[in-house]
Amino acid sequence: MGKFKAIFFDMDGVLYDSMPIHEYTWVHSFCAHGITFEPEQAYINEGRTGKGTINLVFNQQFGRNATEREISQIYGLKTVLMQARPAAPVMPNMQKLVSDLRKKNIDIFVVTGSKQPSLLQKLSRDYGFDRQHIVSGADVEHGKPDPEPYLIALNRSGLSVDECAVVENAPMGVQSAKAANLFTFAINTGKLEDHYLTDEHCDLIFHDTAELAEALLKSV
Ligand code: MG
Repeated sequence: MGKFKAIFFDMDGVLYDSMPIHEYTWVHSFCAHGITFEPEQAYINEGRTGKGTINLVFNQQFGRNATEREISQIYGLKTVLMQARPAAPVMPNMQKLVSDLRKKNIDIFVVTGSKQPSLLQKLSRDYGFDRQHIVSGADVEHGKPDPEPYLIALNRSGLSVDECAVVENAPMGVQSAKAANLFTFAINTGKLEDHYLTDEHCDLIFHDTAELAEALLKSV
């Protein structure tokens, strides 16, 4: 350890405590259409597109893809419910961690599949990210679990793969980071058992952000 010069942070479930909102809105929008959706599935499928998640559930329960109308009804309701919820709070300890890392001259990027329009202002206001240090859903052709988002961050950092590490909470996020050959700190902030993250070969796993912060600061 003591070698990382840049850290790439995922956003949902890492920088913001936003996954309970996704869980709530997925469960209720499926339920309103008479379809069962277990809370755990929100965490297993984190990072998948809305359409991808809906089709997966339809295939599991009805053996077919959803129609465009079903997709727009379910996803439309999810969007309305999301807009009615208060904004997700920042994850405890993470603003201090990002600030402590910057004091050590560590370059910090956020790598998220999200495309929400308010993203840039929010990340700038809460965490001091400029546009150059944000890789969003708008910057990629292939989202997680493809390695592309993390490879873009690696390229922007100008560093070698061994000098960078990732912080991820989602199975598909860990898959993306490991496909890019990056050292990956997993932080299990959700409702899944650890094996969902270890099965994707994360290098270390933590269960709260204080533990993560202590280990990360020792690794730079
Ligand atoms: Mg995440």
